[in-house]
Amino acid sequence: MDQATLEQPTASRSGRFAAGLRAALGFGVELALPPLCPACREPVGDMALCAACWAKLSFIAPPYCARLGVPFAYDPGAGVLSMQAIADPPAFNRARAAVRYDEIARTLVHALKYGDRLDLAPTMGQWMAAAGRELLTEADALIPVPLHWRRLWSRRFNQAGALAQAISRASGVGVVDGALKRVKATAQQVGRSKAERAANMQGAFRVPDKAPVAGRRLVLVDDVLTSGATSESCARALLRAGAANVDVLVFARVVDSVRTPI
Ligand SMILES: [Zn+2]
Repeated sequence: MDQATLEQPTASRSGRFAAGLRAALGFGVELALPPLCPACREPVGDMALCAACWAKLSFIAPPYCARLGVPFAYDPGAGVLSMQAIADPPAFNRARAAVRYDEIARTLVHALKYGDRLDLAPTMGQWMAAAGRELLTEADALIPVPLHWRRLWSRRFNQAGALAQAISRASGVGVVDGALKRVKATAQQVGRSKAERAANMQGAFRVPDKAPVAGRRLVLVDDVLTSGATSESCARALLRAGAANVDVLVFARVVDSVRTPI
C-alpha cells in the first residue's frame, strides 16, 4: 500500500477511511496508514497518543514502595516499603509500572490487545523500559506472561509478548519466549475478589524446561497489574524452576488508594 496514492481528505474522513481499511486488511498495513489516537480517534502522525490524551496519562514516578512500586503521596525516604508489601509480601521481588490504570491507560491496553494496534507497542514499551530501568539493568532476560493457546488463537498475538519485544529493543535485554506455559485456561478475573483471583490462578503456569530460567534474573512482562495474582502465579513457577530473581514490569497498574508508609 503506497500512502501517496491515497487522497488527502479531511482529518476525520481520513481517520474513518484508515480505520475502515485497517478493519478490512488487518494489522499488516498498520504502518502504511495514518495512525489514529486510540482514545479520541484523531490522526496523530508519529505519536501513539494525541497531545491532549497524552497529557491525561498518569505516569508513575518516585516516591513509591521499593517493593510493589505503588506510589506514595509524599516521600518517606529511599527504600521504604508500603504497609501492603510488609503485611503481604509478593513472591516476586519488585514490581514497576509505567502508568496508573485509568481510562486513558485502559484505552491504550484495549487498543493493543483487541484493536490490532500493534503500532502502539514500541511507545508503550519505551515508557515501560524507562519505568523499569532499575530492574532492567540487573536483568538477564524478559519473560512475557503467556496466553493460553486457545486465547492466543482467537487473538492472534500476545500483547505481553509485543510489549516484551519493544522493551527488549529499548533496553537490550533479550526475550525468552516459551519459558512459561499457561496450562490452565483461567476464567476472567474481572469482578473477582483478591482471594478468588489467587485461587483462580493457582497452578495456571508451568515451566516446561528449567534451563532458560535456572539461576537467571528475570523480568516478567505484562500489560496490566490488577490484584497481582497472575504475576504471583508466574513468579512462583519461575522461582520453583530455579530463577535467581523475578521482577515484574507492566504497562499499567491499578492504584486503588494511597498506602501510608510506616
Ligand atoms: Zn487523543
